[in-house]
Amino acid sequence: MPVVIVGAGQAGLAVSHELGVLGVEHTVLERGTVANTWRGRWDTFCLVTPNWTVQLPGGKYDGGDPDGYMPRDEIVAHLERYARSFSAPVREAVEVRSLERAPDEFILDTSEGEIRTRTVVLATGAYQKPHRPRGADGFPGRVQVIDAEHYRNADALARGAVLIVGSGQTGCQLAEELHEAGRDVYLACGRAPWVPRRLGGRDIAHWIEATGFFDQPRSALPSPQARLIANQQVTGHGGGHDLNYRVLRAMGVTLLGRFKGVSGGRVMFADDLARSVAFGDERYAALRKMVADTCTTTGITPPDMPDPAPFDPFAPDSIPVDRLGAVIFTSGFRPDFASWVNISGAFDELGFPIEQDGASTVAPGLFFCGIHYMRKRKSALLIGVGEDAAIVAGAVAVGSGN
Ligand SMILES: Cc1cc2nc3c(=O)[nH]c(=O)nc-3n(C[C@H](O)[C@H](O)[C@H](O)COP(=O)(O)OP(=O)(O)OC[C@H]3O[C@@H](n4cnc5c(N)ncnc54)[C@H](O)[C@@H]3O)c2cc1C
Repeated sequence: MPVVIVGAGQAGLAVSHELGVLGVEHTVLERGTVANTWRGRWDTFCLVTPNWTVQLPGGKYDGGDPDGYMPRDEIVAHLERYARSFSAPVREAVEVRSLERAPDEFILDTSEGEIRTRTVVLATGAYQKPHRPRGADGFPGRVQVIDAEHYRNADALARGAVLIVGSGQTGCQLAEELHEAGRDVYLACGRAPWVPRRLGGRDIAHWIEATGFFDQPRSALPSPQARLIANQQVTGHGGGHDLNYRVLRAMGVTLLGRFKGVSGGRVMFADDLARSVAFGDERYAALRKMVADTCTTTGITPPDMPDPAPFDPFAPDSIPVDRLGAVIFTSGFRPDFASWVNISGAFDELGFPIEQDGASTVAPGLFFCGIHYMRKRKSALLIGVGEDAAIVAGAVAVGSGN
């Protein structure tokens, strides 16, 4: 059997493209259809990074709005065109239920029968299993409780006030959308960096790229857990604008500390909003310094980078659960390989693969692509996955004798 790639999102397609260039026979198994995960995002979803960051090998953004932020259906259409452009050998509606190692090969149990191969690339997603904090199961049955991946639009959500638990990019975007839909919105906040949408008239992504931030290797992280920190608060919605704690509070969203659970008919929150805001401000300060240093090195006039406005840290320590119609958890993701990849020792304590440049160091012939921070900060992003895909494809080609 030729090389098997599991997953036809951007990572699986990019590896497929690169294997095609190297002449390596392969097949891509996809449980849904091409771009399955993007299709499942909420109705008004759009990119947070500008369109020019779509840098897939052989599939760069080539539309007329490089500084815009593609809505969901355009992203899907882009990936569909990408797959067609090189006749990606995708078999849709084939789910891989388990992966085992046998002597000299791997056995994939799929919805279309067993497949044996010596080389497998898992490109099954950067954000695999929604993570809920402790205490999440304490809500009474009449309150609708969902993960963000099941949110579609305000009308499809139970009536009444909404508590959003988690304040990364998604939590902030849903808070804005629901507030604009006329809901009372409570946002349980955690530690998340924020960035201004634009600096000196240019999108923040230009500055982030110029500073080399996207290229930071995983080894630059202060701890393995830092791999799980939220992405920067900002949005591409409505042409793109700032979207952070200050913006949300000014529009009328109630900010709260970290979610602690439900007790005595009340939802409880930690007294840590000030610390969470301070964390985001520290990250912004670090970015400002990187931008200033880059400007000094390259001789560019630095953009105006104002200090954050003062922040009143007051937040209620609880709210009555009766007030809520719905709760949306958007408190991060964890890898989910261990539930279906039966290869002992192949994953670390957090569930990330133990690999070097995408090649499992435990199971030769097993590769990964599209993993959050696999090689660099940009590994799971549209701007960076192509670089990893080329490296993985090169190693696959060597291993399969091409
Ligand atoms: C809310 C959100 C917003 C984002 N916004 C941006 C952005 O603006 N810019 C950016 O660059 N990045 C963004 N990202 C990050 C990243 O680009 C996306 O997560 C992207 O979907 C990752 O692509 P992927 O191919 O690695 O994984 P996915 O797109 O998740 O593709 C994995 C594929 O594998 C399939 N699959 C999984 N398991 C199996 C199995 N067992 N058998 C068969 N098939 C399987 C799935 O159906 C899916 O099609 C965002 C992420 C999230 C969560």
